[in-house]
Amino acid sequence: MKIPFGLVLVGTLACFGSFAQAAPCLDVTLTGTQGGPPVFKGQAGAGTLVRFGDSETGCSDLMLQFDTGRGTTQQLSKLGVPVGKLTAVFFTHIHSDHSEGLIDVAQLRWHFNSGGPKLDMVCSADSASPAGHSMSCTKYAAAIGDAMIASGEMAQRLAENPKRLPGGPADLLNVMTFEPANNAAVVWSSGDVTVSAIRSTHVPGHASYRVDTPAGSVVIGGDAGNDARKPPRASSTSAQVEDLAKGADILVHSVIHPVMGPDGSSGFPPPIYFRQSTATDLGALSQRAGVGHLMLTHLIPPLGAPRQGPYPIEGGGLTEANYIDAVRDGGFEGDVTVGSDLANYRIIAE
Ligand SMILES: [Zn+2]
Repeated sequence: MKIPFGLVLVGTLACFGSFAQAAPCLDVTLTGTQGGPPVFKGQAGAGTLVRFGDSETGCSDLMLQFDTGRGTTQQLSKLGVPVGKLTAVFFTHIHSDHSEGLIDVAQLRWHFNSGGPKLDMVCSADSASPAGHSMSCTKYAAAIGDAMIASGEMAQRLAENPKRLPGGPADLLNVMTFEPANNAAVVWSSGDVTVSAIRSTHVPGHASYRVDTPAGSVVIGGDAGNDARKPPRASSTSAQVEDLAKGADILVHSVIHPVMGPDGSSGFPPPIYFRQSTATDLGALSQRAGVGHLMLTHLIPPLGAPRQGPYPIEGGGLTEANYIDAVRDGGFEGDVTVGSDLANYRIIAE
């Protein structure tokens, strides 16, 4: 028996679930595809929304956000996802282009959802760099409202509504850290859904994730690159991500086009080029790992961009075909999405 769509919208799942022709459903949406700190034509910063639920009820019982680049709240609003409904956020690393949108997410939750629930924030434990600094997701979370507290904004909002939490938005973040390792370990779970993480190389504390659900699986590589930071090496991709991606239905991964490499004329700094995965090597990884669908995101350079930040692109801009050709050069025969903001891939279990 089919339930009319409107009833499902207004009813509770418990009441109607036993009648619905429901199937487990996994929805993967690129909330932002900008590669690195530049802004190009309004693209949002890096982020991926993974939703899981019943196909009959919009596939949205769990809403897991991986990275929160610039503009994440606007992108979620286009999908009809209020930040108060996010279940958890996960960070591959805390470079600003992957994390700055959390300030807005947390501020909004504090403003309208101070009564809770807290937002799980899953990330690496503090990681020391050989250069002497340390990258700390915990400190980022603790300081998330500091500018607004310093300006008096929060005191003014609190005076209007004392039900808001006095400590500001940091009080609504439930930070859950883990020590990333070469072998995958479960770092978060809910019901039948597990999220595992591994260590990967980019900056200290970088991690990549895999979400396993009854509908399918998705790996979020982030900005992972090879442990050998420059050639000679077999690949620019991460061996740990390859392990994590074995048999995955979907791989979402940041990509750099070979045109930015030292053989080209862009002048892009080689160490920055070498710490990303190239489109060609991601194609090869996906083929070896048996990935079903490769979603390229965090494109360096963006489609059609005449430059990446200050670095000019040979020929004036790349096309979708340029990226796909590079992936096919790596031997991948599966489906490829060259990511644009809000690109989506859904799997409904048979
Ligand atoms: Zn990045």
